[in-house]
Amino acid sequence: MSGIYIHIPFCSSKCAYCGFYSVPTLKRKAAFLESLKQEIVSRKDYLHGEKVETIYFGGGTPSLLKGEELHAILKVLYDTFEIDPQAEITLEANPDTLSLDDLVAIRALGVNRLSIGIQSFFDNDLQYLGRRHNSQHARQCLAWAKEAGFENITIDLIYGLPTSDAEQWSRNLECFFELELPHLSAYALTLEPNAILTKQIEMGKVQPVHEDDAVRDYGILCQKMAQQGFLHYEISNFCKPERHSRHNTSYWFGTPYVGFGPSAHSYDGLSRQWNVSSLEQYVGNGKRSTENGKLFESERLTLEQRYDEYVMLRLRTMWGIDLQYLKREMGERFSSYCEQKAQPLIAHGRLSQNREILYLTDEQMLFADGIAEALFW
Ligand code: SF4
Repeated sequence: MSGIYIHIPFCSSKCAYCGFYSVPTLKRKAAFLESLKQEIVSRKDYLHGEKVETIYFGGGTPSLLKGEELHAILKVLYDTFEIDPQAEITLEANPDTLSLDDLVAIRALGVNRLSIGIQSFFDNDLQYLGRRHNSQHARQCLAWAKEAGFENITIDLIYGLPTSDAEQWSRNLECFFELELPHLSAYALTLEPNAILTKQIEMGKVQPVHEDDAVRDYGILCQKMAQQGFLHYEISNFCKPERHSRHNTSYWFGTPYVGFGPSAHSYDGLSRQWNVSSLEQYVGNGKRSTENGKLFESERLTLEQRYDEYVMLRLRTMWGIDLQYLKREMGERFSSYCEQKAQPLIAHGRLSQNREILYLTDEQMLFADGIAEALFW
């Protein structure tokens, strides 16, 4: 079992809060698509023949690609890897980039899951975030997605915005419930070092972000999602039963995956690899080469690094850290160490334990990074 991630590095413009690698122009699209195909074929052995169960088009804005361009990428993937006929195929989309015809064409290609960057159903939030769409586009896009035959739809919302109070955030969630979608990803607004918003705040041009707002909104989020029968399966992710993102969940379970495109990461179970975060270098002169001749960097993980990674990823999920797994896969040295480090955290109510599983409750999850650090090797 394995997965494929494809990074489409194009956006119509840069959103104010964005920390992802993307360029606000389609100028190098043809060259990118050519390099992408070359990369896919050149790394056909990375997954050692494992069946691919998930494909994820992320970005950037993958919905900026035309149907025939997506078709061409999928064709190379199907020609190169063994893809499960029941594979989950997700495409990230922005509401301003899609018409009903586009959505029908994408569905016909076999894309069976849509992840739409709604972020908010309120225009004042969307303006603050520097999004290109407004709340009307958001609703229209969701209606079209359903009309095109998509059932497995998730949206992103952002909370902790200075333009929104508790009531507006609650109404945002009500809008989500009215749509009867099976999945939500909700993220606290974070200030990325190079994001436009960070500079705007530093210059006093827009309202600053307060951490207290995010804590307040997170409480509302957890409460309302539970009331509506959603499973809180990862810090930022909620789903109806059986409707979790199979692709993202496989990351948290350490499943091997290969990532194509600039800034994409790959993991084969023992080592990690990451591509250059530069479209220029990625496409090169048609040769897909960087100055030093390498498109990617890689690192073989030590057992200690694999332990840290397991702790960090699993603590963010409802499945938690399985001490039996640690013992079985990494040895008693690691399970005992983890158990011993966990005791003071449990005693102080920062971590919970149920038999062999260490996990975080909703309230504890907000501090997951700090708690994971306390358990690191
Ligand atoms: S659409 Fe997504 S990737 Fe593109 S600029 Fe906005 S946040 Fe960044």
